[in-house]
Amino acid sequence: MADCLFCGIAAHRVPATIVHEDDDVVVFKDLRPQAPLHVLVIPKEHVASLAEADVALAGTVAAAAAKAAADAGYSASGYRVVANTGPDAGQSVAHLHFHVLAGRPLGWPPG
Ligand code: 5GP
Ligand code: ZN
Repeated sequence: MADCLFCGIAAHRVPATIVHEDDDVVVFKDLRPQAPLHVLVIPKEHVASLAEADVALAGTVAAAAAKAAADAGYSASGYRVVANTGPDAGQSVAHLHFHVLAGRPLGWPPG
């Protein structure tokens, strides 16, 4: 989608620190990291949010999130995967993205 920020990152039109890419997903560092590891996992295909994702796409992105945490060395200590969806959750970019956060104790419940 032409005016979508994360489509721009997926197409390499918008600069980002990409840590992994394959045919289906791109994993890149969040611009404003909230933990020592804070990456975003996005599908290359434009899907506005988790609410619009089919089972296959949601599974692909979730598996990529777990792999990103494992590849960064956080399998044992743990990590959090968050998909803010819609206004009350504070979703600010309308292209599906899973946050992967790790490297510090993560409070619960979230704000
Ligand atoms: P949301 O608020 O939609 O759950 O998450 C959007 C995330 O995208 C935020 O954590 C924000 O820091 C990140 N973000 C916004 N713009 C950019 C950008 O241009 N580059 C990168 N790498 N991250 C961004
Ligand atoms: Zn998009």
